[in-house]
Amino acid sequence: MQGRLRGTLIGLAVGDALGAAVEFKAPGTFKPIDGYRAGGPHGLEPGQWTDDTSMALALADSMIHVGWNLEDQARRYMAWWHQGEYSVNGRCFDIGNTVSSALSRFETSGDVLSCASSDERASGNGSIMRLAPVPIYYADLFPDDIAKLSRLAEQSSLTTHASGRCRSACRYMALLLAGLMHGVSRDEVLSPTWEPLQQLRAAEPLHPDIDEIAEGSFRHRQPPQIVGSGYVVQSLEAALWAFHDAQDFRTAVLKAVNLGDDADTTGAVCGQLAGACWGEGSIPQPWLDGLAERKMIEQSLAGLLGGTPHVKEK
Ligand code: MG
Ligand code: MG
Repeated sequence: MQGRLRGTLIGLAVGDALGAAVEFKAPGTFKPIDGYRAGGPHGLEPGQWTDDTSMALALADSMIHVGWNLEDQARRYMAWWHQGEYSVNGRCFDIGNTVSSALSRFETSGDVLSCASSDERASGNGSIMRLAPVPIYYADLFPDDIAKLSRLAEQSSLTTHASGRCRSACRYMALLLAGLMHGVSRDEVLSPTWEPLQQLRAAEPLHPDIDEIAEGSFRHRQPPQIVGSGYVVQSLEAALWAFHDAQDFRTAVLKAVNLGDDADTTGAVCGQLAGACWGEGSIPQPWLDGLAERKMIEQSLAGLLGGTPHVKEK
């Protein structure tokens, strides 16, 4: 299980780093990614990762240091934005519009529960891309307290993405990750009739667009219907499309990033799922060795896995 917990966060960063070189490129317009590559819109070095991983590290650090506190989570995102903390190269080079608007409002109002837009048009993938630390830290809530696990996942979205689609996507994805980390098979967690999914729906129904994914939309669609865009519904569906029938971590994540578009984030979402399923040991060694600032990720994992979780909700 340790390997699957670790694989979830490392998988996020690896998928992010693999996709970074082709972010914003249309599918089919680039030489397919088969390993780390320099470049992309931010001119990164091979193996360097982006906002997806930075925000995950900030979220993890918050839970490690103060337990569950949304204000502290938002403050740490601001430290990344303004001071470049948690960044691979010491500066924030790629904050999304939804995130910067929410954090600006938080800066002014100090009210973390009203700073993010709940407009469904603001349904970006920025809260599923960074989700891993929540189900890792609170892995023990599965399978006995699925309602609480999903509530924490949903709350982690509220700091920046408060729409119904984003909240449902976080609830559903946290459940998938928790099941996989506990060794439940991929086919079982992805089944529309998986018992924990019924419990999740009973606690509160999923947004219909997210429920359609949980019903298996990704099984009978192919590109160009599958799109690795920044829209949370398409992003989650694309990551599951790449993951659900892949033979291993490498195949899944490469399939995800080679959709182009928001490639780093499709990669980060798929990397979390693949890492939770197959564990750290399944990640190709050159990708582990070549991951930039691996120390920062190790530090985060030590904090997430070392301490006793304090479930204090705020
Ligand atoms: Mg990114
Ligand atoms: Mg992205």
